[in-house]
Amino acid sequence: MTILLTGGAGFIGSNLAKQLLEEGHQVICLDNLDSYYAPDIKWKNVQQTLSLPEYRFHQGDIRDSELVDTLFQTYAFDAVIHLAARAGVRPSVQDPALYYDVNVNGTLTLLQAMQRFCVTKMVFASSSSVYGDSPQVPFSETDSADRPLSPYAASKRAAELLCHTFHNLYGFDVFCLRFFTVYGPLQRPEMAISQFTESILNGQAINVFGDGSTARDYTYVDDIVSGIIQSLKNLKGYEVLNIGGSDPISLANLIRVIEQAVGKTALINRLPMQPGDVQQTYADIRKAVQLIDYQPSVRVEDGIRRFVDWFRTRQDVDLIMK
Ligand code: NAD
Repeated sequence: MTILLTGGAGFIGSNLAKQLLEEGHQVICLDNLDSYYAPDIKWKNVQQTLSLPEYRFHQGDIRDSELVDTLFQTYAFDAVIHLAARAGVRPSVQDPALYYDVNVNGTLTLLQAMQRFCVTKMVFASSSSVYGDSPQVPFSETDSADRPLSPYAASKRAAELLCHTFHNLYGFDVFCLRFFTVYGPLQRPEMAISQFTESILNGQAINVFGDGSTARDYTYVDDIVSGIIQSLKNLKGYEVLNIGGSDPISLANLIRVIEQAVGKTALINRLPMQPGDVQQTYADIRKAVQLIDYQPSVRVEDGIRRFVDWFRTRQDVDLIMK
């Protein structure tokens, strides 16, 4: 397949690009290397695949409809995997308009280009945050997603609804995958596991919001990548699927697992819960198991060890480069 991969320079996108290329697909990446975190990290990600003949990188914005049209004119896309977004719950509370613009208008720009150029298949990166503080766990796709707690969550829900509209109007096959907190090599540096690992390794205090009882359903990035590829291959019509580890861990226990992997004890700086944060996330994955044979394969203890090993290697390389 020839695939337009938006956000392909980011954490999940770079891991996914490698796998798609290994499976023989052509990957055309569109990413503006935005400033949410250091663009040179993303550029390093891109460089890992840049020399491969089946990979092309275009630096640009998904909201730039002229550029998007040019890409659709240049390549015969079979599908779009749309990961480009402003990620991050807490910063969205400070700048809701930016999150709306990138995540909603950006998605609309792509859907309209797909309609103009008769490309009818999209995988959209949605988020467990659409469930808000849902009273019952695990979160099922049939639960209400109409009580988002942050502008980020609302923007993802709005984009899902646009995807559904384009399915209704034009018969697009669109699969909205609700990812549950993703971690693993190339992880975004501002995410908790990255921050904790770096600080514990360097003997610095970690900021812990709340009393440690919040829980997240951490999902190893390889499982997300296989969920995306399996959806692309097996689904039809419009589907919403949870893609999660389905094995939540409390913040306090997560810190213990990272301490063990790093071999050092964390110094803790306790802070109040932040606006937009939910108490817990927990994926009911029965639908994904049934429709795409999705099976999370990496338990959090193993995944954290793999992440810490990668993180140490990356730190060593950074030190040598300096
Ligand atoms: P990321 O920030 O590493 O990747 C997003 C990429 O999109 C970045 O490379 C960025 O430069 C690019 N981008 C941002 N705005 C753009 C624009 N206007 N035009 C073109 N490119 C743009 O984030 P990630 O963790 O890899 O997340 C990928 C997707 O998965 C996002 O849609 C995110 O909301 C979603 N998601 C991630 C998680 C997670 O835990 N990482 C959980 C749920 C959903």
